[in-house]
Amino acid sequence: MKFITIDKKNWAKGIEKSRETYRLFGPVKDKNGVFIRTLEKDMLPDMTINDSIMSVKSVLFPQTEKILFTTLDEAKEDHHIMKRVEFDSSPRAVVGIRPYDAKAIELVKMNFDTDDYRDPYWCDAYEATTFVGVGINKPGPFDFSTSAGTGPFSESGLDVLMADLDNAYLAKILTGKGEAFMKSCGFEKNTDEKESQALFDILRKEAEKNISSHIDTGKLKGKTVLELHEAPFWDDIAFACINCGTCTFVCPTCWCFDIQDETKQKSAGRFRNWDTCMSPLFTKHATGHNPRDSKTQRVRQRFMHKLKYFPDKYDKGIMCVGCGRCVKSCPVNIDIREVCKIMNSYEKNN
Ligand code: SF4
Ligand code: SF4
Repeated sequence: MKFITIDKKNWAKGIEKSRETYRLFGPVKDKNGVFIRTLEKDMLPDMTINDSIMSVKSVLFPQTEKILFTTLDEAKEDHHIMKRVEFDSSPRAVVGIRPYDAKAIELVKMNFDTDDYRDPYWCDAYEATTFVGVGINKPGPFDFSTSAGTGPFSESGLDVLMADLDNAYLAKILTGKGEAFMKSCGFEKNTDEKESQALFDILRKEAEKNISSHIDTGKLKGKTVLELHEAPFWDDIAFACINCGTCTFVCPTCWCFDIQDETKQKSAGRFRNWDTCMSPLFTKHATGHNPRDSKTQRVRQRFMHKLKYFPDKYDKGIMCVGCGRCVKSCPVNIDIREVCKIMNSYEKNN
């Protein structure tokens, strides 16, 4: 494994140099909070914050994306034939991604890149992207990532993991993509491997000790889908929900979308937009029938998908990385940690 020490004095220059090869994205703070944005010239990623309001998922899966287009002009030979919008396959890099968000991309990949189906829009964006993460030295109070299969220094899904050492960054190169990115910045001088790994281990242990929030999922596997589906607690959990969808939009592992066609004069486009299982319209059929027409059904779907259906289907843990965004953002304080506790400890009375 290769490690590189980067003096912070050289950081800005290196990032600027990487622009010769990469389009850059990263966390940026403005008056509304921290968001993942395109890093325009001279903008640096904010490497100091614990989390961003929205996750990095929009870099691969934009909130609104035009995917197909056609002309309605019947004088043209190819009128009404849908074609794919040209994809910008130039290399891009997300710098300053938090480790749990990189793990979330791995979980989302199980949906968009399968043996049976490959979503070309998501997969092409994924292949063009290099993920440069930074460990979280001081996790916040909502972070329960260690009990959700990841952690403040997790390497899953990353091409480079960096550690903030006050005056310098220590970068651990995890893939060929990561090595190419560091090279494009001009960061190439190797650091002793054994010492560097030991430092990472100390930082990881220290950071993990600061995580005070946990969930227990140990008993979920032993319960049947029907048992949990029919449990009496869903009405109580759903009671306060206002179906705003915030929990799903901020979630790095939620991937639901809707397709809409729009026309303007003689041109037409097909768009894919983020959608949410918390909205009654999401499952409403053209006939008017809605298989999830009650709030309880929708709230149950969100938690059952994350904590039961997904783990049962893939056997790769829960569909949640413990970032805590939904807990922090829900206007009525519905808390996935509490719901998980109720589900995990539920025993059906015969
Ligand atoms: S954020 Fe809270 S209120 Fe809004 S849909 Fe999610 S659970 Fe319901
Ligand atoms: S369910 Fe909540 S805590 Fe889990 S990954 Fe999504 S936003 Fe983060």
